[in-house]
Amino acid sequence: MSDISRERRLEILHSLGSTTCAACGKSKRPKMSHCRACYYALPPKMRSALYQGFGDGYEEAFEDSLKFLSDKRAA
Ligand SMILES: [Zn+2]
Repeated sequence: MSDISRERRLEILHSLGSTTCAACGKSKRPKMSHCRACYYALPPKMRSALYQGFGDGYEEAFEDSLKFLSDKRAA
């Protein structure tokens, strides 16, 4: 698979269960990757990538989405 560390994968799993959006710090629903605003800021391709199972592409999709959102904020 990719170069995401075991520790980072665990963090991503925790983030999925938490109620804080990892991208913006606002509240989100557990089991959702991001809050609504962040989720809808993603391109459709990235949104659908987040529906991959954990261990089956989800982590990579999540990292891509965080990078996209932070680049967007920096722009
Ligand atoms: Zn957010």
